[in-house]
Parts: sequence; structure tokens; C-alpha cells
Amino acid sequence: TRKVERIDTQVDEMRVRRKDSNALKVIENVFDDATLKTLYTISNKGIIKALGGSISTGKEANVFLAEGEDRNLAVKIYRISSSTFNSMEEYILGDPRFRNVRHSKRDIIFAWTKKEHRNLERAIEAGVKVPVPIISERNVLVMEFMGEGERSYPQLKEAGVNKENARAFFDTISKYIELLYTKANLVHGDLSEYNILVDPHTQEPIFIDMGQSVTLEHPKSQEFLRRDIENIIRYFKKYGIDADPEKLYSTIREI
Ligand code: ATP
Ligand code: MN
Repeated sequence: TRKVERIDTQVDEMRVRRKDSNALKVIENVFDDATLKTLYTISNKGIIKALGGSISTGKEANVFLAEGEDRNLAVKIYRISSSTFNSMEEYILGDPRFRNVRHSKRDIIFAWTKKEHRNLERAIEAGVKVPVPIISERNVLVMEFMGEGERSYPQLKEAGVNKENARAFFDTISKYIELLYTKANLVHGDLSEYNILVDPHTQEPIFIDMGQSVTLEHPKSQEFLRRDIENIIRYFKKYGIDADPEKLYSTIREI
């Protein structure tokens, strides 16, 4: 287990390290000065007391464990230096909620972070199990930590489901897609066995990674919905679940 350090100490250390070493390229890419300041702001609000170990390094974001007031939290940091931000534009443009976003790279990333925060809120209101968002500032999103101790709940990809539970698990996922669509006006847009965690206590799915989720007004919302459905049906085939993507698609749209 990694020891959790105080943010201020850590921030100072990063500064020193940044100057001394170029071997810490990854850290440098995540914790640029502006991001450190943002973390500092959040820490001054008393929301996070210390930053913990790295949970994940993704294409656009890093996720870290953090120590909150009375429980652990997850901190998702979108890298300002992210090279794939161009793909973000496709999701931001076409979403009426972001009509006034200035199109600099930085601003797109900030809007993206806010969007993930709002999408998680809307998902919760619709009755979909996702991490509760706590605060978003610039490129940093703090949310409920879905895990135990310092360990995240496994992705569906890793955990799988047992044969007896497969049908119920699949049905809950289908229900969540439908609730997102009908109640939250959202399509997840990147749904797969990687962006669903498994709660080991309830054996139920938790949707994550909703930065790219779009409202139904988005010109590609139907395409994204189809793709989400196809991904899930493809994954559950190996558990003997035989569902027709077109049928599920029209069921969801009819309601
Ligand atoms: P992107 O591709 O946009 O950079 P990503 O795939 O890196 O995003 P997420 O899917 O949101 O980002 O998170 C990556 C991993 O971090 C998840 O698969 C999960 O294991 C872990 N994770 C994310 N959010 C949480 C959370 N709230 N609680 C626990 N673990 C989390
Ligand atoms: Mn992901």
C-alpha cells in the first residue's frame, strides 16, 4: 500500500522534481503548474486532504486516489497537454449545452471536465448507478471512489460475471442505457466492459467515464447509442446471452 502524502508537501516535491529530472515526463504532463494550482484550490476548500496513488493512466486523463474528509475519493485529471483532444471537439460541438465554449484546447478540456460532472449528475437523477461527482475545477473532477480500501472495484472486463448472474447483469445494463436515454436525455457514448465497474457486494454494474456522453440533440447520438448497445451485446454473447441489437435499440427509443 502506498502512503498518502499531504498535497502541499507533494506539490512542492513535484516542483523540485520537475526542475531536476526529465525522467518524470508523465508526472510533468499531468501536474503542470496550472493543474497543481487547481489541486491546491480544491485542497484549500477542504475537499481533498491528500493525493494518493495512481489508479489509472488513460488516453486523456489520469485517475488518482485521494483522501477526503472522511473517506477516499477519486480524482480524474484531464491532461492539458493531452494530444488526443481533437477527438473531444466532435463531442463538444453539437451539444447545445456548450454552444458558447471558446474553442481553445484548454477551454475544450475544461468544458469536457464540466460536462463529465453534469453527465454524472444527470445519470444519478435518472436512477443510474455512477460515482457521485463532488467538485469540478478546470481540468480536475473529484468524485466518489468506487472501491474498497485503496482498491478500485474491478472493471467488468477483469471481473466478468458468473453464469447465474449474467442475465440480471445484462438486464441492468440495458435498463441503465434506457434510463439514460429516456430520463437523462443522454447517450453514454463509450460504453464497454472497460467503462463498467462491478460492485462485488451487490454484483451490480456501475457506469463510469461519462466525459464523452452526449445529449440526444447531438447529431451522432443515435450512432453512439447503436454502438453502445452493440458493444454490450457483443460482450455478453460469451455468457450465452443472445440479444438482438436492433430490437434493444428500438425498445429503448420507443419508451
Ligand atoms: P479517457 O479515455 O477519457 O482518458 P479513462 O478511460 O482514462 O478516460 P475512466 O474510464 O473514467 O478514464 O477511468 C479510468 C479507470 O480508473 C477506470 O477504469 C477505473 O478503473 C478507475 N476509476 C475511474 N473512476 C473511478 C472511481 N470513481 N472510483 C474508482 N475507480 C475509478
Ligand atoms: Mn475509460
